[in-house]
Amino acid sequence: MKPGKVIVISAPSGTGKSTIINAILDRGELDLQFSVSATNRSPRPGEVNGVNYHFLTDEQFHDAIAADEFIEWENVYPGRYYGTLKSEVTSKTEAGHNIVLDIDVKGALNVKKLYGDKALTLFVMPPSIAALQQRLEHRGTEAPEVIAERVARAEFEISLAPEFDAVVVNDALDKAIEEANGVIKAFIG
Ligand code: ADP
Ligand code: 5GP
Repeated sequence: MKPGKVIVISAPSGTGKSTIINAILDRGELDLQFSVSATNRSPRPGEVNGVNYHFLTDEQFHDAIAADEFIEWENVYPGRYYGTLKSEVTSKTEAGHNIVLDIDVKGALNVKKLYGDKALTLFVMPPSIAALQQRLEHRGTEAPEVIAERVARAEFEISLAPEFDAVVVNDALDKAIEEANGVIKAFIG
């Protein structure tokens, strides 16, 4: 069996990346499975352990680093760790499924280095930083200081967009879903 491919999607927080990924997965048109990352942040209302993330304590996260359980991990925001588990990626790709990773820009470029042509990196671009801020405020899942921290990182994240294989702007949501779906479809063939 041919191993599945790796699709890595990054965007500044609040751009609409999860919305786009969920819409593409819900369509069921492409053979895609979501890689459930590990994190030490708390679940948002509605997030389910093992579905959105594997929610770990600080100690569990550091134990997993020590046990070499991650393909990559990053300290994305102060004190907040996120990592791609080897077990998630290998079990799904070895079963022939393509896998979608929703990870930060640094993690995305590291995965590209590891997987080369077997990975597609897609950057989802917000129409503006102001729109990003409004979306985060409207989502209402983070405290104002956490929103400020996320918006502050956006300039750095956007500066790395040219290093990605493809960029899709999420202004009109339906158009962005269509474009992202098309880029992924072309890659997995
Ligand atoms: P991310 O995963 O990138 O942090 P989300 O998918 O959670 O972002 O989206 C952030 C918020 O913006 C959500 O409330 C979502 O409904 C909203 N959103 C997503 N795409 C658009 C869009 N094109 N226009 C306006 N709001 C959007
Ligand atoms: P959130 O807290 O909004 O779910 O995610 C914050 C950031 O962490 C997003 O940029 C998201 O893509 C990133 N992220 C989620 N999982 C991983 C992971 O496994 N590795 C890395 N490097 N970043 C991740």
